[in-house]
This record gives sequence, structure tokens and C-alpha cells, in this order.
Amino acid sequence: MRIFALNCGSSSIKAALIETDGGSRLLEMHIENLGSADCRLLIGEEREALEPGTDAKTAIKRLIAELRSRCKDGPQAIAHRVVHGGSAFVQPTLLDDNVLSEIEALSDLAPLHNPVALAAIGFAREQVPDLPHVAVFDTAFHSTLPPRAREYALPRDVAQRFGIRRYGFHGTSHAQVTRAVAQYLKSDVQSLRIVSCHLGNGASVAAVEYGRSVETSMGMTPLEGLVMGTRSGDVDPGVLLHLLKHGGYDAESLDKLLNSDSGLKGLAGTNDLRTLEERAGDGDEASRLALTLYAHRVRKYIGAYAAVMGGVDVIAFTGGIGQHSPLMRHRILQRLDFLGARLDEDRNRDAKLAENTPVCEISDETSRARLLVVTANEEMEIALQTAALLAAGTSGTAMRIPIEISARHAHLTQATIEKLFGPGHHIQPRTQLSQPGQYAAAESVVLIGPRGRIEKVRLMGPPRKEDQVEISRSDEFVLGIDAPVRLSGDLRNTPGITLEGPAGRVTIPSGVICARRHIHMNPRDARHLGVRDHDSVQVRIDSDGRDLVFSDVVVRVSEAFELRLHLDTDEANAAGVRQGDTCELVRSPPRRA
Ligand code: AMP
Repeated sequence: MRIFALNCGSSSIKAALIETDGGSRLLEMHIENLGSADCRLLIGEEREALEPGTDAKTAIKRLIAELRSRCKDGPQAIAHRVVHGGSAFVQPTLLDDNVLSEIEALSDLAPLHNPVALAAIGFAREQVPDLPHVAVFDTAFHSTLPPRAREYALPRDVAQRFGIRRYGFHGTSHAQVTRAVAQYLKSDVQSLRIVSCHLGNGASVAAVEYGRSVETSMGMTPLEGLVMGTRSGDVDPGVLLHLLKHGGYDAESLDKLLNSDSGLKGLAGTNDLRTLEERAGDGDEASRLALTLYAHRVRKYIGAYAAVMGGVDVIAFTGGIGQHSPLMRHRILQRLDFLGARLDEDRNRDAKLAENTPVCEISDETSRARLLVVTANEEMEIALQTAALLAAGTSGTAMRIPIEISARHAHLTQATIEKLFGPGHHIQPRTQLSQPGQYAAAESVVLIGPRGRIEKVRLMGPPRKEDQVEISRSDEFVLGIDAPVRLSGDLRNTPGITLEGPAGRVTIPSGVICARRHIHMNPRDARHLGVRDHDSVQVRIDSDGRDLVFSDVVVRVSEAFELRLHLDTDEANAAGVRQGDTCELVRSPPRRA
């Protein structure tokens, strides 16, 4: 399949027409310095100065005109790199107006990148309206991060409210490195533990364990991790508080400090590694510090990721620095003998990547871990993923459904509440739940069954017209009760239970259920997912080694609902998921519940 891949940054656009069947680049174009006086177009050896200040719209128009005039057989689809797919986009996705507005809604998470990509997609769709346009997301490769690598140790409610988690970036690059390494070693990705180092102006490391990204150095934003051209990478968050409180900084100046004025540039005045290496050779101390700090940080991450994966089979380098600086590779790879990583100095110095040599080996014969330099080829990866999506005949618009895990709880009437907590008692909201108006109350009760008791069972508010207690299958054994699997509110022929509160006991004659798993959604989500109220569907959960497909999941549609799959603790444990993880609807014809 012929795919035109567009990789738009804030100041440059890389474009390539790729024949994905043979993996060949039929045409390669690059527009540099967008919006500035020395904007230019590069095609092979050709160089042309463009109108000073050329903007993205004009640039894309020009690239498409060049494509049409130079290639008799045009593309069958246009592929776009998009930096942030949030939690929702974990695979390449066919673009339509709905998907574009969903990507737009993620712009807060990537204010520097997503608006640029969205504008470029808009211009390209105007120019080529009759071909499919597909987005490939940089965050998608890291959607497999296990919770321990994905979460920050912040209060859960804060993290959930603001969507704070680690997403990881450079995913297309790490995916392409993984593919290229496996091809070079004639091995299956399933048998390799790779530390992939993308070292360019932006830089990140990923631990790719048997084909899945399990750790990566960039986090919620592309600021965390390595020392970069102008970005600081890891900094004690206390430093930021200190600068805010005592350094005269505000959010904006801090943003500029960390994103534009730090990293190599902040340490030694330039983000060009070649200049730093020259100056360091001439004895410049600031440049020397910048180089050693840079190498130290990468080496630290390589060691950490080997520990995360329980060993490392391949350490791969890509990006402007990773591909072209033998000196930096040498610095980074010092003292990694303990990992079985031994550099061959001659091979390292002589490594020359070319069209027909996309991977060079720089390890010596005795090195247990293979050390490789890999040509960055993100456009190829974007094109391959797009071709795979189109060949599969799907849209890829698999909407991720956030998962909420319900621990045992009770919804009680005002009359029962007063019997348990005293006359006139009103339960107090403690935490708001995702479904509007619903809350977990500060109060809890004791459940007493024929066999045993369970303390601290949370009350939910507001009070209801009927008493309802929701427990898990495991709780049933503790209490000695058989509770039927039911949707909330369906309480016919259900067993009762005794409740105990500070003011007394109440035995309710019925109302104990084991909640039937269900998905809340609004009518727009239902349309997007192709389901109706009361459909019974399947959802796929992709977790850390405990992937599971749940059947018998009931769809509940209401204008007031937020999209959420509700599981109980037993179900969540079986699938190895935690609050805030996501799942995907399985595309099988829905049954009616
Ligand atoms: P990228 O963002 O991948 O284009 O990488 C840009 C970085 O690669 C800059 O720091 C450049 O100085 C560095 N770089 C490019 N070519 C070389 C080279 N031949 N030797 C050392 N560093 C290089």
C-alpha cells in the first residue's frame, strides 16, 4: 500500500511517500524553519528557499503539489503523527470530524504539539479530501505500561480529577526501533528485552519487554526524564516549589525555564551536541559538565530499565545524537559491563547508517547484550501502522472506556439511615462519584450475615427509595448469603441482611445483590460505540499479564451518565485492573440483556 506520511512539528514538516509492501521510501521531503526567514524545502539533494515566514498551510499545500507532480502513482491514504492520544487513543485511528474533536479535547495535555498536528490534518484534508486520513499516536505504544510504571504517587482523587498519569512519548520511534532490532537480529520481539534510547533534541528511553513498553522516561508531558536539548528532564519537584515561592517565577516563566532554557542549552549555552563536543575538546568546563550529565542520566536509566525487565538483551540508540555521536554512545556505555554490555570502540567509531544499512552493531563479540545503532524512521512506522489498520478494514476508533471498581457498599432509605444513625441524621458526602449527583458518604455500617460480619461498608448517597446492599461473590462466603447477580434497582426475590450503625441495628427483608457488571454512557457515546440501552456486550481488558474478556456486560444509557465500566473488586482482581484503567468494547453483535 502507498501511504503518504506527514510528521508535523512546530517548526518543521517531514513527509514521505512509502510503499509499505517492500518498505521503500518513494519520495522524501522536508520543510525546515517554518514561519522563519530561512524556511526551506529539501527533496533529496535539492534545496529551495521558500517565501520567508511560510506557514504550515502553505507548506502542506506545497508538499502535496510536489507529491502530485513527482509521483505518477499517488498515495492510497495519508498518515499523520499526533503526539498525544490521552487514554482514549491506543491504536492508529481513521480520522473523521468526531475523532478530530476528541483529539482537540486532549490539547490541554499537549498544548505545544496537538494543536499543530490538528491544524496540519485540517489543511491536508482540505487538499486531499477523497483519501482516508489516519492518525498514529506517539503515546499509543506506551498504553501497555503497567500501573506501577504509569501512576504517580499522588492522591488518587487528584490524579483522576486532572488526568494525571504517565503517558510516555516518542512511541512511534520506540516501536520502529523495536521492529528494526528484531528484523536485524532475525528474532521475534517476543523474545527480546530492549532498552530503546531515542536521543535527539527531545530524548527518552523505553524498556520494551517482549514487545510491550513497560517503562519509559517521559511522563504526563514530554518534560520528564533525560536531559534534552532545551528541556531539563528530571528535577526534584521541590525545586519548582522553591522557585515559585522564592525565585519570582510564575507558571509561565517556569514553563519557559524548564522547556526552552534548560537541558544542554541551559547548562552550556547551546543545544547542538556537535558544538558542545568541540567546545569540551577545547577545555570548556560548562560543555564538559553538560556532556557528562547527559551521559550519566542516560546510563542511569539504562541500568534502571535492565532492573525493571530483569535483564537486557539489546540496548539500541536512535535520534540525531544516538545515531551520529560515537562519543556520546561511548560515554553512555561505560561501566555497563555488569549488564554484559561491552562496546567495540572501532565499530562504534566507524558505525555508518545508510539506506541499505538501517542498523549497525557496535558491541564486541563477547558482549551478551547486543548494542545497536538504528536509523530513526518514524514516517515508515506511521505508514506501516496505517497500512495495517486499513488492510484490517477497521476504523481503529476503539473508544477506551475508563474502569471504575466498586467496593461493597449500601444505598439506604432515609428511614433506615435514621434507625442506624439516629433520628434526623443526614449522611454527609465525602467524595463525589463519576456519575453526576452520586457520592460516597462519610458514614459506614456493619453487615451481619448468618455466617459472619463485614465492618466499614460505605454508604452511598443520596438516600434512595429502597434499601440496596451490593456485595461481591467473596463477601457472600464471608456473610453466608446467596445474592443474585442483578442490576441496581432490580431487587425482586433478593435476600435480606442485618445492618448495624452507631444508633442500632436494622434487618432489611430484601435488597442484597451482587452487582451485574455494566457500562454507563450517554447517548453520544452509545452512538459512537454502536450499542443501545440494555444491550449485553463484551469488553476486553488488556492488563499486566491477566488480560480478560468479560461477557454479560449491560449497557446503561442516560444523558446524565459519564462513560464508565463498573466492576466489583472480585472482577477487577481477576483481570488485574485498578481504578482508572481502561478497556475496549469487543466488536461482536450485541445481545439484548
Ligand atoms: P534530532 O532532534 O533527532 O534531529 O537530533 C538533534 C541533535 O542531534 C542535536 O543535538 C544535534 O547536535 C545532534 N547531532 C546531529 N548530528 C550530529 C553529529 N554528527 N554528531 C553529534 N551530534 C549530532
